[in-house]
Amino acid sequence: MEMTGLQIFKYMPAAKKLPQSNCKECGCPTCMVYSLKLAKQQIDIGKCPYVCEELKQNYAHSIKHSQKTVEIANLKIGGENVLYRHEKTFINPTTLAVMVDCSKPDYEEKIKKICEFEYTHVGQTFGVDLIILKNADNKTESSLRADRESSSVIINLEQLQALDLNIIEEQDFQTTKNYLIETRKKAILDKDDSCSAPVCVVMKNNDIYSQCARASYYLCKYANMIIFDEFDEDLFSTLLTLRYNIFTDPQKTLQVDSGLYKYNNPDENSIIFMTTNFALTYFAVANELENLDVPAYLIIVPADGMSVLTAWSAQTFTPEIVSKFLDELDIKNKIQTRKIIIPGLVSDMIDELNQQCPDFEFIEGTKDASDIGEFVKKLQLER
Ligand code: SF4
Repeated sequence: MEMTGLQIFKYMPAAKKLPQSNCKECGCPTCMVYSLKLAKQQIDIGKCPYVCEELKQNYAHSIKHSQKTVEIANLKIGGENVLYRHEKTFINPTTLAVMVDCSKPDYEEKIKKICEFEYTHVGQTFGVDLIILKNADNKTESSLRADRESSSVIINLEQLQALDLNIIEEQDFQTTKNYLIETRKKAILDKDDSCSAPVCVVMKNNDIYSQCARASYYLCKYANMIIFDEFDEDLFSTLLTLRYNIFTDPQKTLQVDSGLYKYNNPDENSIIFMTTNFALTYFAVANELENLDVPAYLIIVPADGMSVLTAWSAQTFTPEIVSKFLDELDIKNKIQTRKIIIPGLVSDMIDELNQQCPDFEFIEGTKDASDIGEFVKKLQLER
Protein backbone atom coordinates (compact mmCIF):
# COMPACT_ATOMS: atom_id res chain seq x y z
CA MET A 1 0.00 0.00 0.00
CA GLU A 2 1.15 3.51 -0.73
CA MET A 3 2.09 5.62 2.33
CA THR A 4 -0.13 8.55 3.21
CA GLY A 5 1.26 12.02 3.98
CA LEU A 6 0.62 11.51 7.69
CA GLN A 7 2.39 8.15 7.72
CA ILE A 8 5.41 9.81 6.10
CA PHE A 9 5.28 12.82 8.42
CA LYS A 10 5.76 10.57 11.48
CA TYR A 11 9.39 10.04 10.34
CA MET A 12 10.14 13.71 9.65
CA PRO A 13 12.19 16.09 11.84
CA ALA A 14 9.11 18.21 12.64
CA ALA A 15 7.28 15.21 14.06
CA LYS A 16 10.35 14.19 16.09
CA LYS A 17 10.97 17.79 17.18
CA LEU A 18 14.53 17.75 15.81
CA PRO A 19 16.50 20.97 15.21
CA GLN A 20 16.06 20.71 11.39
CA SER A 21 12.26 20.95 11.74
CA ASN A 22 10.72 23.01 8.92
CA CYS A 23 14.17 24.16 7.76
CA LYS A 24 12.90 24.59 4.13
CA GLU A 25 16.07 23.05 2.60
CA CYS A 26 13.84 20.80 0.48
CA GLY A 27 12.10 23.84 -1.01
CA CYS A 28 8.88 23.22 0.94
CA PRO A 29 7.69 25.60 3.67
CA THR A 30 7.24 22.78 6.21
CA CYS A 31 7.97 19.09 6.76
CA MET A 32 4.21 18.46 6.49
CA VAL A 33 4.03 19.98 3.00
CA TYR A 34 7.05 17.88 1.99
CA SER A 35 5.36 14.73 3.39
CA LEU A 36 2.14 15.42 1.51
CA LYS A 37 4.04 16.03 -1.72
CA LEU A 38 6.07 12.87 -1.21
CA ALA A 39 2.87 10.86 -0.71
CA LYS A 40 1.63 12.14 -4.07
CA GLN A 41 5.06 11.45 -5.61
CA GLN A 42 5.38 15.12 -6.53
CA ILE A 43 8.85 15.54 -4.99
CA ASP A 44 12.01 13.43 -4.88
CA ILE A 45 12.77 11.81 -1.52
CA GLY A 46 16.40 12.97 -1.90
CA LYS A 47 15.34 16.63 -1.57
CA CYS A 48 15.33 16.35 2.22
CA PRO A 49 18.80 15.50 3.57
CA TYR A 50 17.31 14.46 6.94
CA VAL A 51 15.13 11.55 5.79
CA CYS A 52 15.98 8.47 7.90
CA GLU A 53 16.88 5.07 6.41
CA GLU A 54 13.68 3.47 7.71
CA LEU A 55 11.51 5.96 5.81
CA LYS A 56 13.63 5.55 2.65
CA GLN A 57 13.07 1.79 2.71
CA ASN A 58 9.36 1.92 3.56
CA TYR A 59 8.74 4.60 0.97
CA ALA A 60 10.61 2.73 -1.78
CA HIS A 61 8.53 -0.37 -0.99
CA SER A 62 5.29 1.60 -0.93
CA ILE A 63 5.74 3.25 -4.33
CA LYS A 64 6.89 0.09 -6.05
CA HIS A 65 4.27 -0.76 -8.69
CA SER A 66 2.29 -3.81 -7.72
CA GLN A 67 1.46 -4.97 -11.21
CA LYS A 68 3.40 -4.58 -14.42
CA THR A 69 1.78 -2.71 -17.28
CA VAL A 70 1.87 -4.46 -20.66
CA GLU A 71 1.10 -2.48 -23.80
CA ILE A 72 -0.36 -3.80 -27.04
CA ALA A 73 -0.70 -0.90 -29.51
CA ASN A 74 -2.90 1.62 -27.65
CA LEU A 75 -4.11 -0.94 -25.09
CA LYS A 76 -2.67 -0.93 -21.58
CA ILE A 77 -3.08 -4.07 -19.54
CA GLY A 78 -2.49 -4.38 -15.77
CA GLY A 79 -0.67 -1.68 -13.81
CA GLU A 80 -3.11 -1.87 -10.89
CA ASN A 81 -2.07 -0.73 -7.41
CA VAL A 82 -5.14 -1.27 -5.28
CA LEU A 83 -7.55 -4.08 -4.47
CA TYR A 84 -10.62 -1.86 -4.28
CA ARG A 85 -11.53 1.10 -6.40
CA HIS A 86 -12.48 3.26 -3.38
CA GLU A 87 -8.90 3.00 -2.05
CA LYS A 88 -7.71 5.14 -4.96
CA THR A 89 -8.70 4.14 -8.45
CA PHE A 90 -8.29 1.31 -10.92
CA ILE A 91 -5.95 2.19 -13.73
CA ASN A 92 -6.60 0.08 -16.83
CA PRO A 93 -9.99 -1.47 -17.67
CA THR A 94 -10.02 -5.23 -18.21
CA THR A 95 -9.24 -5.89 -21.87
CA LEU A 96 -12.04 -7.80 -23.59
CA ALA A 97 -10.73 -9.97 -26.41
CA VAL A 98 -11.93 -12.54 -28.94
CA MET A 99 -9.78 -15.36 -30.33
CA VAL A 100 -10.39 -16.06 -34.02
CA ASP A 101 -9.18 -19.30 -35.57
CA CYS A 102 -7.95 -18.47 -39.08
CA SER A 103 -8.00 -22.13 -40.10
CA LYS A 104 -11.81 -22.00 -40.03
CA PRO A 105 -13.57 -21.06 -43.31
CA ASP A 106 -15.69 -18.29 -41.78
CA TYR A 107 -12.86 -16.46 -40.00
CA GLU A 108 -12.96 -13.34 -42.21
CA GLU A 109 -16.67 -12.93 -41.68
CA LYS A 110 -16.12 -13.28 -37.96
CA ILE A 111 -13.43 -10.58 -37.91
CA LYS A 112 -15.67 -8.30 -39.97
CA LYS A 113 -18.52 -8.74 -37.48
CA ILE A 114 -16.25 -8.04 -34.51
CA CYS A 115 -14.71 -4.96 -36.13
CA GLU A 116 -18.14 -3.57 -36.94
CA PHE A 117 -19.46 -3.97 -33.40
CA GLU A 118 -20.02 -0.70 -31.55
CA TYR A 119 -21.66 -0.14 -28.22
CA THR A 120 -22.55 3.31 -26.84
CA HIS A 121 -22.97 3.89 -23.13
CA VAL A 122 -23.17 7.27 -21.34
CA GLY A 123 -22.18 9.00 -24.56
CA GLN A 124 -19.06 6.91 -25.11
CA THR A 125 -18.61 4.35 -27.84
CA PHE A 126 -16.79 1.08 -27.20
CA GLY A 127 -15.92 -1.96 -29.28
CA VAL A 128 -14.05 -5.23 -28.85
CA ASP A 129 -10.60 -4.22 -27.56
CA LEU A 130 -8.52 -7.01 -29.03
CA ILE A 131 -8.77 -9.69 -31.72
CA ILE A 132 -6.28 -12.53 -31.30
CA LEU A 133 -5.59 -14.60 -34.40
CA LYS A 134 -4.91 -18.31 -34.01
CA ASN A 135 -3.30 -20.20 -36.92
CA ALA A 136 -2.77 -16.88 -38.68
CA ASP A 137 0.17 -18.11 -40.86
CA ASN A 138 1.21 -15.15 -42.97
CA LYS A 139 -1.95 -13.13 -42.61
CA THR A 140 -1.17 -9.58 -41.61
CA GLU A 141 -3.23 -7.22 -39.60
CA SER A 142 -3.63 -4.83 -42.52
CA SER A 143 -4.81 -7.55 -44.90
CA LEU A 144 -7.42 -8.66 -42.38
CA ARG A 145 -8.51 -5.20 -41.45
CA ALA A 146 -8.93 -4.19 -45.13
CA ASP A 147 -10.66 -0.82 -45.18
CA ARG A 148 -12.62 -1.40 -42.01
CA GLU A 149 -12.69 1.43 -39.57
CA SER A 150 -12.41 -0.21 -36.18
CA SER A 151 -10.82 0.52 -32.87
CA SER A 152 -10.10 -3.20 -32.28
CA VAL A 153 -6.42 -4.09 -32.09
CA ILE A 154 -5.46 -7.27 -34.02
CA ILE A 155 -2.49 -9.46 -33.07
CA ASN A 156 -1.40 -13.06 -33.56
CA LEU A 157 -1.60 -15.55 -30.70
CA GLU A 158 2.19 -15.97 -30.84
CA GLN A 159 2.67 -12.24 -30.32
CA LEU A 160 0.36 -12.33 -27.31
CA GLN A 161 2.18 -15.32 -25.83
CA ALA A 162 5.52 -13.52 -26.15
CA LEU A 163 4.35 -10.70 -23.85
CA ASP A 164 4.91 -10.62 -20.11
CA LEU A 165 1.37 -11.80 -19.35
CA ASN A 166 0.11 -14.60 -17.14
CA ILE A 167 -2.30 -16.40 -19.51
CA ILE A 168 -4.47 -19.02 -17.78
CA GLU A 169 -7.11 -21.38 -19.14
CA GLU A 170 -10.36 -21.11 -17.20
CA GLN A 171 -10.84 -24.08 -14.87
CA ASP A 172 -14.05 -24.55 -12.92
CA PHE A 173 -15.43 -21.25 -11.61
CA GLN A 174 -14.27 -21.61 -7.98
CA THR A 175 -10.70 -22.54 -8.92
CA THR A 176 -10.37 -19.68 -11.42
CA LYS A 177 -11.95 -17.16 -9.06
CA ASN A 178 -9.69 -18.18 -6.16
CA TYR A 179 -6.61 -18.04 -8.37
CA LEU A 180 -7.45 -14.53 -9.57
CA ILE A 181 -8.06 -13.24 -6.04
CA GLU A 182 -4.97 -14.87 -4.56
CA THR A 183 -2.73 -13.65 -7.38
CA ARG A 184 -3.97 -10.06 -7.15
CA LYS A 185 -3.65 -10.02 -3.35
CA LYS A 186 -0.05 -11.28 -3.54
CA ALA A 187 0.74 -8.66 -6.19
CA ILE A 188 -0.83 -5.75 -4.31
CA LEU A 189 -0.39 -6.56 -0.64
CA ASP A 190 2.90 -8.48 -0.73
CA LYS A 191 4.32 -6.84 -3.88
CA ASP A 192 5.29 -10.34 -4.86
CA ASP A 193 7.19 -10.11 -8.17
CA SER A 194 6.14 -13.61 -9.18
CA CYS A 195 2.51 -12.38 -9.27
CA SER A 196 3.08 -9.02 -10.93
CA ALA A 197 2.29 -10.05 -14.52
CA PRO A 198 -1.23 -9.05 -15.64
CA VAL A 199 -3.55 -12.09 -15.65
CA CYS A 200 -5.48 -13.10 -18.81
CA VAL A 201 -8.27 -15.67 -18.56
CA VAL A 202 -9.11 -17.78 -21.63
CA MET A 203 -12.79 -18.59 -21.15
CA LYS A 204 -14.25 -22.04 -21.64
CA ASN A 205 -16.64 -21.94 -24.55
CA ASN A 206 -20.03 -23.04 -23.23
CA ASP A 207 -23.49 -21.65 -22.52
CA ILE A 208 -23.44 -17.88 -23.16
CA TYR A 209 -25.43 -16.98 -20.00
CA SER A 210 -23.10 -18.95 -17.77
CA GLN A 211 -20.10 -17.41 -19.57
CA CYS A 212 -21.55 -13.95 -19.00
CA ALA A 213 -22.03 -14.57 -15.27
CA ARG A 214 -18.53 -16.01 -14.79
CA ALA A 215 -16.84 -13.35 -16.91
CA SER A 216 -18.68 -10.63 -14.94
CA TYR A 217 -17.13 -11.96 -11.75
CA TYR A 218 -13.66 -12.19 -13.29
CA LEU A 219 -14.02 -8.63 -14.55
CA CYS A 220 -14.78 -7.43 -11.00
CA LYS A 221 -12.11 -9.63 -9.42
CA TYR A 222 -9.46 -9.54 -10.93
CA ALA A 223 -8.80 -10.48 -14.55
CA ASN A 224 -6.73 -7.97 -16.54
CA MET A 225 -7.86 -9.54 -19.80
CA ILE A 226 -10.69 -11.94 -20.68
CA ILE A 227 -10.45 -13.89 -23.93
CA PHE A 228 -13.50 -15.45 -25.55
CA ASP A 229 -13.61 -18.08 -28.28
CA GLU A 230 -16.80 -16.74 -29.75
CA PHE A 231 -18.11 -13.23 -30.24
CA ASP A 232 -21.58 -12.43 -28.95
CA GLU A 233 -23.00 -8.88 -29.06
CA ASP A 234 -25.20 -9.26 -25.98
CA LEU A 235 -22.34 -10.70 -23.96
CA PHE A 236 -19.99 -7.85 -24.91
CA SER A 237 -22.63 -5.15 -24.38
CA THR A 238 -23.25 -6.47 -20.86
CA LEU A 239 -19.56 -6.71 -19.99
CA LEU A 240 -18.76 -3.28 -21.45
CA THR A 241 -21.50 -1.71 -19.31
CA LEU A 242 -20.22 -3.47 -16.20
CA ARG A 243 -16.64 -2.54 -17.03
CA TYR A 244 -17.58 1.09 -17.47
CA ASN A 245 -19.14 1.13 -14.00
CA ILE A 246 -16.29 -0.71 -12.30
CA PHE A 247 -13.46 1.27 -13.88
CA THR A 248 -14.92 4.76 -13.66
CA ASP A 249 -12.60 6.85 -11.49
CA PRO A 250 -14.59 7.71 -8.32
CA GLN A 251 -12.48 10.85 -7.91
CA LYS A 252 -13.57 12.29 -11.25
CA THR A 253 -17.08 13.42 -12.03
CA LEU A 254 -18.63 12.22 -15.25
CA GLN A 255 -18.60 15.10 -17.64
CA VAL A 256 -19.37 15.84 -21.25
CA ASP A 257 -17.75 18.34 -23.58
CA SER A 258 -18.95 21.89 -23.18
CA GLY A 259 -20.30 23.55 -26.34
CA LEU A 260 -23.38 24.11 -28.46
CA TYR A 261 -25.50 21.00 -29.11
CA LYS A 262 -28.27 20.86 -31.74
CA TYR A 263 -31.54 18.89 -31.73
CA ASN A 264 -34.06 18.40 -34.57
CA ASN A 265 -32.26 20.64 -37.10
CA PRO A 266 -32.54 24.02 -35.39
CA ASP A 267 -32.34 27.26 -37.37
CA GLU A 268 -31.27 30.69 -36.18
CA ASN A 269 -34.64 31.31 -34.50
CA SER A 270 -34.89 28.08 -32.51
CA ILE A 271 -35.16 27.99 -28.71
CA ILE A 272 -32.01 27.80 -26.61
CA PHE A 273 -31.57 25.83 -23.38
CA MET A 274 -28.56 26.02 -21.10
CA THR A 275 -27.15 23.72 -18.41
CA THR A 276 -23.82 22.49 -16.99
CA ASN A 277 -21.46 19.79 -18.27
CA PHE A 278 -22.30 17.20 -15.58
CA ALA A 279 -22.91 14.07 -17.69
CA LEU A 280 -26.10 12.97 -15.96
CA THR A 281 -27.62 16.45 -16.21
CA TYR A 282 -26.64 16.65 -19.86
CA PHE A 283 -28.15 13.26 -20.73
CA ALA A 284 -31.39 14.02 -18.86
CA VAL A 285 -31.88 17.30 -20.79
CA ALA A 286 -30.54 16.00 -24.12
CA ASN A 287 -32.86 13.01 -23.94
CA GLU A 288 -35.90 15.25 -23.49
CA LEU A 289 -34.85 17.58 -26.31
CA GLU A 290 -34.14 14.69 -28.65
CA ASN A 291 -37.63 13.29 -28.13
CA LEU A 292 -39.42 16.61 -28.66
CA ASP A 293 -40.51 17.37 -32.18
CA VAL A 294 -39.10 20.87 -31.75
CA PRO A 295 -35.81 22.26 -33.10
CA ALA A 296 -33.66 23.41 -30.20
CA TYR A 297 -30.15 24.29 -29.07
CA LEU A 298 -28.50 23.28 -25.84
CA ILE A 299 -25.57 25.27 -24.49
CA ILE A 300 -23.42 23.15 -22.19
CA VAL A 301 -21.38 25.44 -19.95
CA PRO A 302 -18.02 24.16 -18.62
CA ALA A 303 -18.59 23.80 -14.84
CA ASP A 304 -16.01 21.22 -13.74
CA GLY A 305 -18.54 18.46 -14.39
CA MET A 306 -20.79 19.60 -11.53
CA SER A 307 -24.55 19.41 -11.46
CA VAL A 308 -26.42 22.71 -11.71
CA LEU A 309 -26.94 23.50 -8.02
CA THR A 310 -23.51 22.24 -6.96
CA ALA A 311 -21.85 24.27 -9.70
CA TRP A 312 -23.80 27.37 -8.66
CA SER A 313 -22.72 27.00 -5.01
CA ALA A 314 -19.14 26.14 -5.98
CA GLN A 315 -19.03 29.22 -8.26
CA THR A 316 -18.26 27.19 -11.36
CA PHE A 317 -21.58 28.23 -12.97
CA THR A 318 -21.68 32.01 -12.57
CA PRO A 319 -22.93 34.90 -14.74
CA GLU A 320 -19.29 35.78 -15.53
CA ILE A 321 -18.52 32.24 -16.71
CA VAL A 322 -21.74 32.13 -18.75
CA SER A 323 -21.02 35.51 -20.35
CA LYS A 324 -17.47 34.49 -21.28
CA PHE A 325 -18.68 31.20 -22.72
CA LEU A 326 -21.42 32.82 -24.82
CA ASP A 327 -18.74 35.08 -26.30
CA GLU A 328 -16.47 32.09 -26.92
CA LEU A 329 -19.26 30.29 -28.79
CA ASP A 330 -20.16 33.53 -30.60
CA ILE A 331 -23.84 32.83 -29.96
CA LYS A 332 -24.79 36.46 -30.58
CA ASN A 333 -23.72 36.23 -34.23
CA LYS A 334 -24.63 32.61 -34.87
CA ILE A 335 -28.22 32.57 -33.58
CA GLN A 336 -30.96 35.22 -33.78
CA THR A 337 -32.83 33.94 -30.71
CA ARG A 338 -32.15 36.17 -27.73
CA LYS A 339 -33.94 34.20 -25.01
CA ILE A 340 -31.95 31.56 -23.15
CA ILE A 341 -33.75 29.10 -20.88
CA ILE A 342 -31.76 28.25 -17.74
CA PRO A 343 -32.53 25.49 -15.21
CA GLY A 344 -35.25 26.47 -12.75
CA LEU A 345 -32.97 25.46 -9.86
CA VAL A 346 -30.80 28.52 -10.45
CA SER A 347 -33.53 31.08 -11.17
CA ASP A 348 -31.86 33.33 -8.53
CA MET A 349 -29.12 33.96 -11.09
CA ILE A 350 -31.47 35.51 -13.66
CA ASP A 351 -31.08 39.19 -12.68
CA GLU A 352 -27.29 38.94 -12.56
CA LEU A 353 -27.23 37.03 -15.87
CA ASN A 354 -29.35 39.68 -17.55
CA GLN A 355 -26.97 42.37 -16.31
CA GLN A 356 -23.82 40.46 -17.23
CA CYS A 357 -25.06 39.44 -20.70
CA PRO A 358 -27.14 42.42 -21.96
CA ASP A 359 -27.51 40.91 -25.46
CA PHE A 360 -29.67 38.11 -24.08
CA GLU A 361 -32.73 37.62 -21.92
CA PHE A 362 -32.54 34.70 -19.51
CA ILE A 363 -35.75 32.96 -18.56
CA GLU A 364 -36.53 30.42 -15.89
CA GLY A 365 -36.89 26.86 -17.14
CA THR A 366 -37.99 23.73 -15.32
CA LYS A 367 -36.44 22.30 -12.17
CA ASP A 368 -36.74 18.81 -13.58
CA ALA A 369 -35.71 17.76 -17.09
CA SER A 370 -38.79 15.54 -17.41
CA ASP A 371 -40.99 18.69 -17.42
CA ILE A 372 -39.25 20.22 -20.45
CA GLY A 373 -41.90 18.87 -22.88
CA GLU A 374 -44.76 20.66 -21.09
CA PHE A 375 -42.62 23.78 -20.69
CA VAL A 376 -41.93 23.95 -24.44
CA LYS A 377 -45.62 23.48 -25.29
CA LYS A 378 -46.53 26.48 -23.08
CA LEU A 379 -43.70 28.50 -24.57
CA GLN A 380 -45.01 27.85 -28.10
CA LEU A 381 -48.54 28.92 -27.13
CA GLU A 382 -47.17 32.19 -25.73
CA ARG A 383 -45.20 32.96 -28.88
FE1 SF4 B 1 11.53 19.26 6.76
FE2 SF4 B 1 13.49 18.03 5.48
FE3 SF4 B 1 12.14 19.92 4.24
FE4 SF4 B 1 13.77 20.55 6.25
S1 SF4 B 1 14.37 19.66 4.30
S2 SF4 B 1 11.68 21.29 5.89
S3 SF4 B 1 13.53 18.79 7.54
S4 SF4 B 1 11.34 18.02 4.95
